[in-house]
Amino acid sequence: MTPRYYDAHNHLQDGRFGGRQSALIGQCVAAGVAHMVVNGSCEEDWPQVLELARASGSARHSVVVPSFGYHPWYIHERTEDWRKNLIHHLDQSPSAVGEIGLDRWKPGLDYTDQEDVFIAQLQIAAERNLPASIHCLQAWGRMLEILKAGPRPRCGFLLHSYGGPKEMVESFARLGAFFSLPGYYAHERKERQRETFRHIPPERLLIETDAPDQMLPQMQNDFVSTAVIALADKKTGKPLNHPANLPAVYAFAAALLGEPVESLAARVEENFFRLFGTLIRQ
Ligand SMILES: [Zn+2]
Repeated sequence: MTPRYYDAHNHLQDGRFGGRQSALIGQCVAAGVAHMVVNGSCEEDWPQVLELARASGSARHSVVVPSFGYHPWYIHERTEDWRKNLIHHLDQSPSAVGEIGLDRWKPGLDYTDQEDVFIAQLQIAAERNLPASIHCLQAWGRMLEILKAGPRPRCGFLLHSYGGPKEMVESFARLGAFFSLPGYYAHERKERQRETFRHIPPERLLIETDAPDQMLPQMQNDFVSTAVIALADKKTGKPLNHPANLPAVYAFAAALLGEPVESLAARVEENFFRLFGTLIRQ
């Protein structure tokens, strides 16, 4: 039996997909993808995420689990009513809070206000006990302090594409963290991140595509044996990560951890339901 795959983090609403979303969902379902958490990143794309959740299934079953949040890259665009707007979207459908976070890495990005906006969204997630999907680049010390101080959702949170120090995994896990592995870490130079993922507690591991970003290596290597699906931005011709590459990311994770895909997939399924299960209509 083919395993059921769960994408803990992607951005299916991204404009670079150029309106091909329903075809992409069809290809994902054909590849065995059971659910994907689709992360909005600003007020402008939240309605699109909601629409994908509605369009991707019946009232009884939806492939898309919507997630709404202000990504640190876009908080400068927020309107006066952004909180109200966020709560309005969270009220429309069972949903997660994300993508939210802290970023001290992106060149030219202002750090001012990032913590305030992040904490305000954590507060909303904590009040409603909704899982939060967190982005963190070069701010791991502050991230741990903020999560420790709270508020944080009791049901847990996701550190997507975890790239922090191996030594901090346990502290985050104690606070309720899950950690998702992207295909991008199959690139040769990502050995530090692969080494970290060999030490993630088994019951806290999740897998993600982060589509349309974080492509797997095009050339097959020690970790990637499954061919990567080609997809390009219609306007720029640049390659995009297809969300149906999820089984290839699972194959990478299985090779990395030295275990059969089937047992890994069964565990990731349990983990996915532990974090996002309350949001899923079956
Ligand atoms: Zn993301």
